[in-house]
Amino acid sequence: MEIIRTPAEMTAWANRALAARETIALVPTMGSFHEGHLRLMRKARERAGRTVVSLFVNPIQFGASEDLGRYPRDFPRDCQLAEAEGVDVLFAPEAQTMYPPEASTRVIVSGLTDVLCGRSRPGHFAGVTTVVAKLFHLIKPHFAVFGEKDFQQLAVIRRMVADLNWDVEIIGHPIVREVDGLAMSSRNIYLSVPERQAALCLFKAIGQARKRVRAGLVEATLLLREIEELLQQAAVTVEYASLVDQTTLQPQAVLGKGTVLALAVKVGATRLIDNDNLFEEG
Ligand code: AMP
Repeated sequence: MEIIRTPAEMTAWANRALAARETIALVPTMGSFHEGHLRLMRKARERAGRTVVSLFVNPIQFGASEDLGRYPRDFPRDCQLAEAEGVDVLFAPEAQTMYPPEASTRVIVSGLTDVLCGRSRPGHFAGVTTVVAKLFHLIKPHFAVFGEKDFQQLAVIRRMVADLNWDVEIIGHPIVREVDGLAMSSRNIYLSVPERQAALCLFKAIGQARKRVRAGLVEATLLLREIEELLQQAAVTVEYASLVDQTTLQPQAVLGKGTVLALAVKVGATRLIDNDNLFEEG
């Protein structure tokens, strides 16, 4: 596996691969790999001849009061894991090379970024779309794989790619969970034992919602009331619990195909998100 540290070298590699008629799949990450990341890498390898994983804790997607400084990092371990997955290139640039002092461009998707996580994290999605746009330009992937765990991010990126006529296929990967149902996240290591227990309320809420939908419930307000009650019983602070359309992210009054239950809570100091496409098999 090649480790590439600068945007210029990354582009030179991509140009060589394209000249050799290779197909390229990209998996953008912030590192601290868990099984969720590894599954995305596997999916990328299935789709393309060459797999690039970017590992970049993107400073411009963190708010001033967020965890940029303490975000978990373990580069040697990440290298080992990516190599074991058969990744061809780990692109791990320094922040100064991605954002030199004179850089002053942001890629902004409007509308979809004003709701859900966009409300409590102003500027977050502009940071995400800017870095993903840069990665697409540097690496020129045919495919890019993103997790459905960050389902708003996936919707925003799909919108950006469609709006900018980008010739890259966006592939979503289902949420990878721990055996007890907690969605895997690099941030789970922040959780104490009781917090880890409290965090299970997210998966319980999803189970409850699925059960009610299977029983024929279609009224969103009713389901939301139940979900909120369930979350309030756990030692968490609810940021949002919403029933939205998977593409428009608009609240749904009547539940149906494409309705996603989207959840964000704070467990102690740790912010966790989860979601479920309620009418999909699962
Ligand atoms: P991150 O390193 O947290 O920015 O995540 C990198 C990519 O991995 C994103 O596309 C995430 O949606 C995806 N991802 C993170 N956790 C999971 C998970 N538990 N299941 C599926 N995809 C995930």
